[in-house]
Amino acid sequence: TTAPILLEAQGVAKHYGKFVALGGVDLKVRANTVHSVIGPNGAGKTTLFHMLTGTKAVSGGRILFDGHDVTREPDHRRVRRGMARSFQVTSLFLTLPVRENLRLAAQGVAPAKALDCWNAPTGARSCADTVAQVLERVGLARHAGTPAGNLSHGQQRRLEVGMALAAKPKAIFLDEPTSGMGIDDLDDMKRLIQGLKDEHTVVLIEHNMGIVMDISDTITVMQLGRVLAEGVPAEIRNDERVRTAYLGNM
Ligand code: ATP
Repeated sequence: TTAPILLEAQGVAKHYGKFVALGGVDLKVRANTVHSVIGPNGAGKTTLFHMLTGTKAVSGGRILFDGHDVTREPDHRRVRRGMARSFQVTSLFLTLPVRENLRLAAQGVAPAKALDCWNAPTGARSCADTVAQVLERVGLARHAGTPAGNLSHGQQRRLEVGMALAAKPKAIFLDEPTSGMGIDDLDDMKRLIQGLKDEHTVVLIEHNMGIVMDISDTITVMQLGRVLAEGVPAEIRNDERVRTAYLGNM
């Protein structure tokens, strides 16, 4: 793919005392692609996500997003620039209907938009439009009025993705969106992620190799805080170093 680069990490490092969680990671994520980050436990995938989305500060290196150096920007500024991380189930409002969860997520983006959601007539309509679009996207339109707590596990995981989408992000960061899922839910989530590419860029941490190989445009393999390999799925599948790192589990 030759799409423009939306997100770039340059030598991003994270140290905890003497422990090197990330030892200088370079990453280029192209717009409207699914870019997966894989690697054995402790490889630094989640730490890298923290650096990219701004939930933790880097120890070194730079992060560029959409033409801006965001390295020193707090996470809420990055959200406004169009970076959204999917929420965990724990941040769903379980007693509120799905629709209200999404409305709250849409408001969370920026104060101006929050007003939009309540002020008639144009703002309210645009917010309602966003909520309706997201409901369709994540396949929960029929459950708009259902309390989030009454959804199935798979539906809750899709709502988490929806909460991030409600912020109308350019890039969406998904950390193991399929963990603990049964086969039907897996399939739904896979199709959902694939469908996001038309309007969004997806950065994905995923342990399910079948899904990673099926839906990724680019895969970055991490090991011990460094990039071990990067390429399209076929390249990664046939990479000897990757096979060794996974002890043949691919
Ligand atoms: P997993 O697949 O198990 O989630 P991961 O690739 O996401 O692993 P990270 O969670 O990023 O790995 O952790 C990378 C390394 O950094 C691990 O060895 C971890 O123990 C260490 N680490 C993470 N956070 C801290 C911290 N706050 N203090 C010290 N070490 C940390």
